[in-house]
This record gives sequence, C-alpha cells and structure tokens, in this order.
Amino acid sequence: MKKGRIFSGMRPTGRLHLGNLMGALANWVKLQDDYECFYAVVDWHALTTGYEDTSMLRQNVREVVMDYVAAGVDPERSTVFRQSDVKEHAELHLLLSMITSLGWLERCPTYKEQLQQLSGRDITTYGFLGYPVLMAADILAYRASSVPVGEDQLPHLELAREIARRFNYLYGTVFPEPQAILNDVPVLLGTDGRKMSKSYGNTIQIASTPQEVRTAVQSMITDPARIRKTDPGHPEVCTVFGYYKAFAPELAAVRENECRNAEIGCVACKRQLADVIIDYLTPVWERRRTLETDPGALDDILDRGAARARSVAAATLAEVREAMKI
Ligand code: SF4
Repeated sequence: MKKGRIFSGMRPTGRLHLGNLMGALANWVKLQDDYECFYAVVDWHALTTGYEDTSMLRQNVREVVMDYVAAGVDPERSTVFRQSDVKEHAELHLLLSMITSLGWLERCPTYKEQLQQLSGRDITTYGFLGYPVLMAADILAYRASSVPVGEDQLPHLELAREIARRFNYLYGTVFPEPQAILNDVPVLLGTDGRKMSKSYGNTIQIASTPQEVRTAVQSMITDPARIRKTDPGHPEVCTVFGYYKAFAPELAAVRENECRNAEIGCVACKRQLADVIIDYLTPVWERRRTLETDPGALDDILDRGAARARSVAAATLAEVREAMKI
C-alpha cells in the first residue's frame, strides 16, 4: 500500500552533478518504495531562462534521463517522462494562470533573486514570471499528495498550494494541497567552496570519469587556516569534509577527529575522499553506460513514461474542464 503520489522534476540544462545526486536523486530513489512516483524532465521550464538557444535541449533531456536512471530511479516502478510529451501540463498551466494573482508571482522571492542573478539574459518575460504556475500545473496534473523539495523551493510549493486552494474554492474540490517532503541531506558545495552551480564551473558531474573525480577533489578548497600538516584543522569550514558527510557519514566522524588533531594531511584526506566517491559512483556509472550504449532503451523509457503520465493527467484535466464548465 503506497502512502501517496509524488511529482518532481529537473530542468534539462545539461548533465546533472553530485549536488543533484545527493540533494535530490538519492531521495527520489528512496521514495520509490513508499510512493507512486512521477519524475519528469521539465523541458518547458528550461525555456523560461534559456529560450534563445535550444540547440542542446533534446540531447540534454536524454542526458538527464540517463542520470535519473543511473542514480537508481527505476522506470519499472516510477513514471519517468518528458514534460513536453504530456500536453495536459500546458492546458492546466493556461487554466491556472487565469486564477493566479500577479501579486503572488511578483512577490515570489526567487523571481527577483533570479532577475538579479541572471542579469546578463533578458528574462523579463511572461513565461519567466509565470514559471511557478507551470510548476503548479506539473504537480496538480497528477494530484500529487507530496513533493520532495529543498528548502529554497518551499515558496514555489506554497504558491502551488495557494493556487489549488483558489481553484477548489471557485470550482469545487479537484486538487489536494501537496505537502512538502524536505530533503534532509546536507547541501554539497562546489569545489571552490561556493554554491554548486554549472555557471560557476565548480561542479562534479555524475557522468565524470574516475580521473575527473580525482582532479576535481584535489582542487577542492579546504580549511584556509591549515597551512602545515601539523596545524589542527577546522573541518566545519572545509568543502572536503562536507562531501565526507554526504557520501560516507561513518567515515566523516573519523576524519573529523584526525583533522582536528592534525593526524591526517589534506592531500591524503582528499585522496581517500576521491576513493569514496568513486566507489559510490561505480554502480551509477554502470547503469548509465547501459543506457548510453542502447539509445532505443532510453526512447522506450520515455515512450512508456509519457503514455502512463498522459493517462493520469488526462483524467485530471477531464475533471478540471468539468469543474470549470469548459
Ligand atoms: S584534513 Fe580533510 S577535512 Fe581537514 S582541512 Fe584537510 S581536507 Fe579538510
């Protein structure tokens, strides 16, 4: 007996990285046991900030699906699909946009933040402002009971709940108010100690080679106050230590003591971390390789996922049209 239904998705802006893996995908994999899961690659969302150059969009969708499956998302147990294959998302987005106040969207904290962060691009568009409405449509099309989110996405989920409440008040109850399932994994920083982001060039991709993992780990920023091996370290300010906590929590306690007591040098500490990450990723790489060498299997996952997602979303939309007398 499943506890409910989940929807989540990622934008296909390129290959996924270890932050995506530990911050979201590892959680998605666990949730498959207890929930009916819908995991989308949300390609329309990628257009909200990257509409000018779509040359890599299709390939990026494939890369993200390979990363999902490599991480352990099982297309036999979960519905893995491309958002644009299910046109019901677009119809629901349109209908929900009719009842969404502009003030709700303009007040969304991520809206102003992103306008500043992406100041080099023209994203003062209708589509970008309405991004949270599309997100609400994604979730509500499946009448998802829960959504796994990071803390930074809570305002978007609250907006989806607000839109569901307004719809139910105006037309009768069709949607449940989706609840958050908060990811409890510590946030992984980029190799330079800043927020992990493709635009900073500080990520480690899931699809990296072992040598790329070693090179990236060796370049990580450590405790700046630790100059000699004999200096006691402060693991709480060290990027490397954050990775130990995520990938090998039992080993993290050992490293913490060794670092504080100056019993290990940073080079050795990093070398061992690279081994830990490579061990963790070895089965992930094997699953990815299977799909890389069999494009037909990937097409099959997307086709089956789209058919399953469409049937559920179509049933919701039939009720929505009925409720709205359309
Ligand atoms: S020993 Fe390890 S945890 Fe301590 S500062 Fe060096 S890299 Fe960081």
